[in-house]
Amino acid sequence: MKPFFIYNTLSRTVEEFVPLKPGVVTLYSCGPTVYLPQHLGNMRTYLCTDTLKRALRLNGYQVRHVMNITDVGHMTSDQDAGEDKIEKTARAEGRSPREVADYYTQLFIRDLEMLRIERPTVPPGQFCRATDHIADMIALIQRILDRGYAYVVGSGVYFDVEKWRGPGAKGRLSRQSLEEQYSEQRLEHASDKRSKHDFALWVLNQPHHLMQWDSPWGRGYPGWHIECSAMSMKYLGETLDIHTGGLDHIPIHHENEIAQSESATGRPFVRYFVHYAFLVGMEGAKISKSSGKFPVLTDLIAAGIDPMAFRLFCLGAKYRSELAFSLDAVRAAQTNFEYFTEFARSMPPDACSAPDSGWTQSYFNRFIDSLNNDLNTPQALAVTLELIGESYRRKDRCVWSTLTKMDSVLGLGMEEIRRQAASQTLPTEIEALRAERDQARQKKDFRRSDELRRELQARGYEVKDTPSGTVLQPRR
Ligand code: AMP
Ligand code: ZN
Repeated sequence: MKPFFIYNTLSRTVEEFVPLKPGVVTLYSCGPTVYLPQHLGNMRTYLCTDTLKRALRLNGYQVRHVMNITDVGHMTSDQDAGEDKIEKTARAEGRSPREVADYYTQLFIRDLEMLRIERPTVPPGQFCRATDHIADMIALIQRILDRGYAYVVGSGVYFDVEKWRGPGAKGRLSRQSLEEQYSEQRLEHASDKRSKHDFALWVLNQPHHLMQWDSPWGRGYPGWHIECSAMSMKYLGETLDIHTGGLDHIPIHHENEIAQSESATGRPFVRYFVHYAFLVGMEGAKISKSSGKFPVLTDLIAAGIDPMAFRLFCLGAKYRSELAFSLDAVRAAQTNFEYFTEFARSMPPDACSAPDSGWTQSYFNRFIDSLNNDLNTPQALAVTLELIGESYRRKDRCVWSTLTKMDSVLGLGMEEIRRQAASQTLPTEIEALRAERDQARQKKDFRRSDELRRELQARGYEVKDTPSGTVLQPRR
């Protein structure tokens, strides 16, 4: 196994990744709050995790991955103030919170599928809904209370942040004081809280809240952060190898997850925290749900862009770099995607089953070295494109097994594209025109080859010239 390096927010350095248990990685990712569609920024975050998972698998690890769905408790501020996001949509749309959550969960899963993002593996293929794990959250809150790091007052059960952290200490992940951590939050807080920085584990006495459950402390609902601690530890154990999320989670959500989990268990919660930089709009404009207007995957499809172009667009940037979104930039990635699809569609079947030529090995080594160097996807992508270019140059198509191994990380579905094209038998007269055009091109009879191009186009085919001949694609 080659060493795999990744940037750990806890140490602020690129570290060699070594899992707790050899050969197995436990991975938890904060999932969506399902009250609006997921925007392309959110999808970038899930794509980053998908790539990390795939890269670890290429390195021979089994990845045990859990992702949650937040369907209760996430307030309109990341602290405890405001309204529950799901309930706000429910009231506005005249639906129940469950209907809202189900609807936006389905949209989220549809977008994941279109982007070929794999589902979590624990429980197999399932997302963990917060509302299905209320009993686990209650049990965890009780453990925190028993260890003296939480207290119960009229408005809820709160985590005692200063007691946990010690006076004046900085956050382990954010490296900020409490004042600095909360500097962007409006701290409207319940008057019976001991400190404005204490956060809710369980909220009580909010009769207008639609979703409520019984608990040892009274009827109420969980705070937002507790679900991730409860679900991750339930399925993956008390110490996780990797925890992922967007950069915005560093100062509050993940800092609070560490506090809750470690105060309950007395053990380290996460060994490697991996955070992704944001997708931004033109001139660095924020892409967020609260801004009201945000791009979603169906906007790209409506503009004639394939979801795989967005996947390639994201792979073209390092996960730690902010990425500027524009339709033109994604269109440019679509050209790359067409280069990939053309290669797959024009693969001669015999070259796919033949062993790869020896020269491909050095490309594969460079590919995996790029990924293992802090997930350098732009470099890995460049190596893949080079391999295709070299295959054309050498007129040697015995590269398929290397290319599909690379695609197990890039996730473009190259084998599916090839199979689909191979199973598409052209009508006899079209195949005859295609063959005639190839002959004309070989004889450098460009006038005839152009005539045949127009003929094929008139019959509903897109005509592409590739180094291995004319490739036809029926127009949709
Ligand atoms: P939310 O549904 O708001 O809880 O966000 C889901 C995930 O998307 C979280 O991991 C966020 O950190 C992440 N996220 C939110 N906005 C962006 C953005 N503009 N770019 C990348 N990731 C984002
Ligand atoms: Zn979380």
